[in-house]
Amino acid sequence: MTTTRPIDRPMEQPLVDTYRRRIEDLRISVTDRCNFRCQYCMPAEGLPWLPTAKVLSDDEIVRLATIFVRLGIKEIRVTGGEPTVRPSLPNIVRRLSALKDEGLQSLSITTNGVLLDKMAGRLAEAGLTRINVSLDTLVQQKFHRITRRDCLARVLHGLEILEQYPTIRPIKINAVAMKNFTEEEILDFARLARTKPYLIRFIEYMPLDADGTWRREQVLTGREIFEVMNAWKPLVPVPTGRSSTSRVYRFADGIGEVGFINPVSEPFCATCNRIRLTADGQIRTCLFSIDEWDLSGPMRAGASDDELATIMHRAISHKELKHKINEGAAFQRASRSMSQIGG
Ligand code: SAM
Repeated sequence: MTTTRPIDRPMEQPLVDTYRRRIEDLRISVTDRCNFRCQYCMPAEGLPWLPTAKVLSDDEIVRLATIFVRLGIKEIRVTGGEPTVRPSLPNIVRRLSALKDEGLQSLSITTNGVLLDKMAGRLAEAGLTRINVSLDTLVQQKFHRITRRDCLARVLHGLEILEQYPTIRPIKINAVAMKNFTEEEILDFARLARTKPYLIRFIEYMPLDADGTWRREQVLTGREIFEVMNAWKPLVPVPTGRSSTSRVYRFADGIGEVGFINPVSEPFCATCNRIRLTADGQIRTCLFSIDEWDLSGPMRAGASDDELATIMHRAISHKELKHKINEGAAFQRASRSMSQIGG
């Protein structure tokens, strides 16, 4: 979807949607490719990858990010696919990091961690200060089964390397919580959060799998995990920002923190301030969007910053009120799966 209708002084208006949500958080996917094949995300054989020519170049990513930051984006998370498979990732991080002079407050990446042993140092030097590492299990066979890669030891080693760079903090670990998979490891994750400088966050499994096999019964809710941990050692809420997607708790004895992201059982759409830019330059205003807003085509056809800002405003004015996972037949699957969107 594109639009040509002008918006008055588009570079001077903040990004606010029709429900008065001020958009301040941008996920940028730098590739749709991934070196893992997580069962809940991608088929074993992978997906049809975007042709290289369609993927935004470093310059294009930085140009769009700069406009977004001037329009009020305060947090950028670089993601994919797997962002570390893009060799220029440290360069992208270095250039995005310079946007802190323009008002960017937080820059992070989301990674499966398998290349961190090689890339952590370069990312730290490039100015990365925050990171999310996805890790769904601490058991080697389960890791192999869920990711279809036998790489747990390498991911754990990557995390150890990361610990050597104190400028990258906090180290957040995201685990997708699934029934008949995660339960037996809840306390092992809790112990990890208490012995390492990691904030472990459980995220509910969402219907964004490429296979389209998601079923509600497979969702292990944040509440269920909380109950198990809290019965083991009491948890105390830690205040977070209004738009934070996660509920964070610390253990009452002061050692360790854990978080819960509950998009299925406790949707947080009312305070969602997030949009996404796909690797091929489309704006998505919700993970579950059906429509996208093309920035790549107009940019490559010579659009000015004002014209691109107009498209950004137009997209945000169509941001969905909420996802409809809990509304039965009203729920429509997103037009792309998680790895293609940029989770
Ligand atoms: N490859 C990077 C990584 O592993 O973090 C970034 C992209 S990955 C798509 C981003 C996050 O989405 C990961 O934490 C992954 O576990 C999560 N994810 C993928 N499919 C999901 C689903 N169906 N439900 C919930 N989370 C999902």
